[in-house]
Amino acid sequence: MYSLPEKIENLVPYEPCSGEYRIRLDANESFLPPDFSLYSDALKSVSLNRYPDSTAEKLCESFAKFYGIDARFVTASNGSDEMLFILANCFLSRGDKVLTLSPDFSMYDFYASLAECNLYSMPKREDMSIDVDAVIKELNSSNYRMLIFSNPCNPTSLGLAREDVRRIINSTDALVVLDEAYMDFWDESLIEEAQNYDNLIILRTCSKMMGMAALRVGFAVANDKITAAVRSVKSPYNVNSLSQAAAAAVLTHGDMLRSNLKKIISSRDWLYENMKEICENKGISLSKPATNFIFFKPKNAANVFEGLKAKGILIRKMGDYLRITAGSPEENKEVIAAAALLL
Ligand code: PMP
Repeated sequence: MYSLPEKIENLVPYEPCSGEYRIRLDANESFLPPDFSLYSDALKSVSLNRYPDSTAEKLCESFAKFYGIDARFVTASNGSDEMLFILANCFLSRGDKVLTLSPDFSMYDFYASLAECNLYSMPKREDMSIDVDAVIKELNSSNYRMLIFSNPCNPTSLGLAREDVRRIINSTDALVVLDEAYMDFWDESLIEEAQNYDNLIILRTCSKMMGMAALRVGFAVANDKITAAVRSVKSPYNVNSLSQAAAAAVLTHGDMLRSNLKKIISSRDWLYENMKEICENKGISLSKPATNFIFFKPKNAANVFEGLKAKGILIRKMGDYLRITAGSPEENKEVIAAAALLL
């Protein structure tokens, strides 16, 4: 009789929220999809009978140009999620020590466990900030092979200054996987200097600021040696041709993307200011967000979550905390009006 491998026998799958909701503010997507006219011609030129370009050359070049970096340090993936899977399964061996911080994006622990690593998830401070000295001390206390964290962080929406991140990378021989999925909303990226480190890999995505979550396009940026290794272990046709063509075309419209970024930031600021006012009156603290979402601990997260759901508004509940993505101005107004009655 066939029995499942022990490591996946009791695995709980990642379950994104499903169902029909009028307003979706649960997945940190952009509320501004790129206009179809910007990529329709690119789609027309795709030959569906042919395999995709395994190097996703045009896509990597468009991405590199948008950020002012060299495409030779860039590898495309099927969402940054696939890159996390590749890193955990190909850059780690069973039993290797991996450090993550808690709370952080849950897939880090998931993939590290799947790769049968020896995982330590180090708690953040009470206020959710990262104690950089403690992280460095932990890295140096044992033979860690990898550190993975998001900056700015999902779910806390807090960012770490560039200099602190550099300090962490320089303090260790472990591979630092720096997930900058939300860095477009802040400005402390190390993307321009990724190639200068021998132990850094930066992850980026088209799913957040760029409004292309449906395409599943992510990127890794690292020095030549790490890039060559990533390219050699990834599956050959990991990013499909339609996604490559559409994302490459959209990425050439830098002005549109920067204009959308401004709109998302002003939506985020409006949501933050208005929620802060409600929270202050109820004695709830709310930190300034460095991403496109807010994160806070109300008195009764379950009530607020269910109350919003009953009004057709989906947000994310994480234990005693709530995470709300900045939506369109109308969506934000609705969520604020409903939250004022529920909080
Ligand atoms: N990293 C972080 C921090 C995220 O929040 C997400 C998406 N929720 C991802 C990576 C995965 O993004 P992608 O759509 O590129 O797979």
